[in-house]
Amino acid sequence: MSTNNAPRAADDHPVTYLQAAVMPVAEALMRHQLLDRRDRLSKTAAHVGPQGRRRHGGTPSEPLTVRELLELLALGEHLARHFRDPLRVHHAVRAGATWPQIAAARAETSFHARQNYIQWADEQRAWALAEADPGVTTGMSAAEHIAARVIACMPACPHCGSHRIVWAGNDDTFESWHCSACHRDYITGGRA
Ligand SMILES: [Zn+2]
Repeated sequence: MSTNNAPRAADDHPVTYLQAAVMPVAEALMRHQLLDRRDRLSKTAAHVGPQGRRRHGGTPSEPLTVRELLELLALGEHLARHFRDPLRVHHAVRAGATWPQIAAARAETSFHARQNYIQWADEQRAWALAEADPGVTTGMSAAEHIAARVIACMPACPHCGSHRIVWAGNDDTFESWHCSACHRDYITGGRA
């Protein structure tokens, strides 16, 4: 992600996603936990009454400012994108995970898991093509891109070989399909 030149916030705490995205994950996680804890403590204190701004140990629990709430949002987005990194899907698929297994792990349909992977691979390839600097090694090579699309493409009908097929559902172990050419239904194990 090209966020190297993201401007830092005036007080050096990020309030936009691009500012948060350049922070190391461990640092972002700590800062997020600190703000989140203070946010919860201040809400608890507010229930105690007007004098309830201080906890038992005398710890101040001031409510978060608007700026800090924005920081919490920006850090949360950074962390969410980090933990949902599509590269992990790529690694799991390459290691032998099936599309139904990927789908179950991510709480999505296997159809969307395939579509999201194809979109991600296309973006990686577009990124590689856009990089004029030959020293930059990000993105996918043409061969990697083709391989990724093959991995995620819908399986051909085992009866007639047609690719005019429609995804009809999945569980954790299989996918079901309907062939628009021979009008038969069938299931596959969803292996990439
Ligand atoms: Zn068919």
